[in-house]
Amino acid sequence: MQHNWSRYLRLILVGLACTTLIGLFFGQPLLGLLLGLVVYLWWTLVQARRLHQWLANPGAPDEPPQSVGLWGDIFDNLHKVHRAHLLTQDRLRAQINRVQESTNAMRDGVIMTDARGAMEWWNGSAEYLLGFKTDKDRGQYIHNLIRTPAFKAYFDARDYRDPLDINSPAKPHIHLQIQISLFGDDDRLIVAKDVTRLYQLEQMRRDFVGNVSHEMRTPLTVISGYLETLVDHADELPPKWRRAINTMAAQSSRMEALITDLILLSKIETGEHTLDDSLTDVDALLTQICHDARALSGDKMHQITVQVNDQRLLKGDESQLRSAFSNLIFNAVKYTPANGSINVSWSTNRDGAHLSVKDSGIGIDPIHIPRLTERFYRADPSRHKDTGGTGLGLAIVKHVLLNHDGNLEIKSSIGEGSEFICHFPRERLAERIPETSGH
Ligand code: ADP
Repeated sequence: MQHNWSRYLRLILVGLACTTLIGLFFGQPLLGLLLGLVVYLWWTLVQARRLHQWLANPGAPDEPPQSVGLWGDIFDNLHKVHRAHLLTQDRLRAQINRVQESTNAMRDGVIMTDARGAMEWWNGSAEYLLGFKTDKDRGQYIHNLIRTPAFKAYFDARDYRDPLDINSPAKPHIHLQIQISLFGDDDRLIVAKDVTRLYQLEQMRRDFVGNVSHEMRTPLTVISGYLETLVDHADELPPKWRRAINTMAAQSSRMEALITDLILLSKIETGEHTLDDSLTDVDALLTQICHDARALSGDKMHQITVQVNDQRLLKGDESQLRSAFSNLIFNAVKYTPANGSINVSWSTNRDGAHLSVKDSGIGIDPIHIPRLTERFYRADPSRHKDTGGTGLGLAIVKHVLLNHDGNLEIKSSIGEGSEFICHFPRERLAERIPETSGH
């Protein structure tokens, strides 16, 4: 570069020297120098104009204007930069096309929207699964096309840790699992997965468990009935049969409890217990359950206390809530040694309503806590042989709470007792309407 530059300078100086010499020949060296400078300036201006025209004209040919000297180099360098730029552009365009092609080939629907939900881009599967139209729907708000209120709530909540399950707005038989991710300037990447097959399998499983339990109930009731009669007349039986009959009776009533819980769980899961917006008097409900719990406690003489700090009613299905609360309270009785204490309390605060069942019992190792609500999960199978539990109690509690927009919190450590807290949202509380007399 330095070498070129001194060459240009030399050329200019030689040119100017020549014009000065010609001027000297005519007795006017200064005029000759001036003329040389004017010619150089004119030539520079012409080159600058050519460059300007080439740059300003978008339809200009790829090749820049040809020139010599300094301007020739400038044109050549510009040409190189321009070609490199075009190459990068081509490469980027090819990459974008590839990403779009691969996203288009995906079986999941992919949609990009801005922060407010205006749709910017989506793939072919999104068109099929959600019924979007390429030419018509660009720029539309996604809430206008997916009108399910749960979707709007999910989109606006900005908490996308768990996916959302909805039916496709265009093809209601398709079940979709929606997952949203935030990217860029608060934009959203929405992925819609077709989970119809999974949904049907899950439905089949529920139906199967429900049907089998129903079918087993009748024969089991007959067997239990006869066994009970036999137990009642145990004195008349040969001694070697008595033990067998007693064990059979105990096992059949255990099986009955299991079937009852299975049927209840499948009803709660399939929503057969429709959640009418009935109101539950939690105070009265807890008083009844604790009365039964005292009977269950029997000789163990637990100290069972109930504390209710809010007289408002809870919106929800009373029989489901009864199952959930009694499972927690009876568990406390089952897993607390004699003379232990069990405190049941119902309280409300800004976050909502909370039912706490706290016992001074055997406690649970924290490693088991995340799995306790799974069906048939037991913290320590060896210590539950004599509790008569079905292993379904906490699964029932979990599903009842899900149906009531609530959740279960478990605090426990071995030997220090446990606390099970059911949290309900504030919206589920309703004022008690004063009863009109005359009933
Ligand atoms: P189960 O019929 O066995 O009681 P649950 O689903 O009601 O089944 O409870 C699951 C497991 O959780 C129980 O087997 C027991 O290990 C543990 N558990 C539940 N409640 C308590 C409690 N209050 N104290 C100690 N362990 C408990």
